[in-house]
Amino acid sequence: MIGVSVNGFGTIGKRVADAVAAQPDMSVVGVSKRSPNHEARSAVEAGHDLYAADADRLTEFGARGIPVAGTVGDMLSASDVVVDATPAGVGETYRDRYAEHDIDVVYQGGEDESVAPESFCARANYERSFGAEATRVVSCNTTGLARAVAPLDETYGVSSVEATLIRRGGDPTQTDRGPINDIVPDPVEVPSHHAPDLRTVMPDIDVTTTGVTVPATLMHLHSVTVSLDADPDASEVRERFAAEPRLQLITTASGCEGCADIQEYARDTGRPRGDVWENCIWADAIHVSDGRLTFFQAIHQQADVVPENVDAVRALAGTADAGESRARTDETLGVGM
Ligand code: NAD
Repeated sequence: MIGVSVNGFGTIGKRVADAVAAQPDMSVVGVSKRSPNHEARSAVEAGHDLYAADADRLTEFGARGIPVAGTVGDMLSASDVVVDATPAGVGETYRDRYAEHDIDVVYQGGEDESVAPESFCARANYERSFGAEATRVVSCNTTGLARAVAPLDETYGVSSVEATLIRRGGDPTQTDRGPINDIVPDPVEVPSHHAPDLRTVMPDIDVTTTGVTVPATLMHLHSVTVSLDADPDASEVRERFAAEPRLQLITTASGCEGCADIQEYARDTGRPRGDVWENCIWADAIHVSDGRLTFFQAIHQQADVVPENVDAVRALAGTADAGESRARTDETLGVGM
């Protein structure tokens, strides 16, 4: 049994804690929070042992009637692996403390790639983190790109990738983010940071990315063109994508015309928090001409990295190979819409 703690019980951390709790080979040692807010209360109600980020905040939790089991240090002492899901840049500040506790660490994509010796996407490079002491799950956008490009590269060979990432302005609770009424090249530099991030897990891919931020919170939408070393027809590519559990083909005929429909479907079918763990690729829009493949995919930024975090824990623990881990994670979470 791998004892896992989650440092930072926010958007990603609470989802990862639930996903870890669903694994037969893992247990949640505890979760930690800095603020004694409603998420802290829900952690306790979900049955997790809650730890405060700082000792001087223990009284704040107590004052709100939220029971805590101790501080982050206590939690780390009892764990084999910590998933760091603190805000971008904060994970790095914990690096020395994690080393003091001699604990394996899964960082998130908001950290610089230098935070860990490897970056991670379970479909692209699971083996590189096998038995390692730390890895970094790449960002939601990069995870989405890597999952789609890896099987194309294996099957047809990929000579280049061009992707425009239409990015949500913020998560639903991020009321201080924007734009409210604009369409913003973001970043204005080309390529955007997503191209070098993809190369941290697929170093040989020739990739150019551009980013645009829009006033939406639901999902990201990618418009992707891949130059293949072969010229399959669109139906062959559809079948190839359909064979990948974390790629979900959707059709406008089923009523999924946009990201809101996908999220509504996830909620209607009882997905926890309406989470969509899979890349959603519009089957109707898959087009190939002279080996140039074009498709759209929607990425639920709050959810797609969750199965990846579970697999990253297993990779560090060295207890399962890539195929075994992905299959176990997918089965326990119910991946596949
Ligand atoms: P968040 O702000 O929703 O959650 C962060 C949590 O960490 C909060 O519960 C906060 O109380 C806690 N925290 C803050 N400071 C802390 C400290 N010093 N010690 C312990 N806990 C502390 O952030 P998030 O959106 O979940 O992002 C976490 C990481 O995941 C970032 O690296 C981010 O870039 C990455 N990520 C986010 C998304 C997304 O869409 N939200 C997608 C993929 C990856």
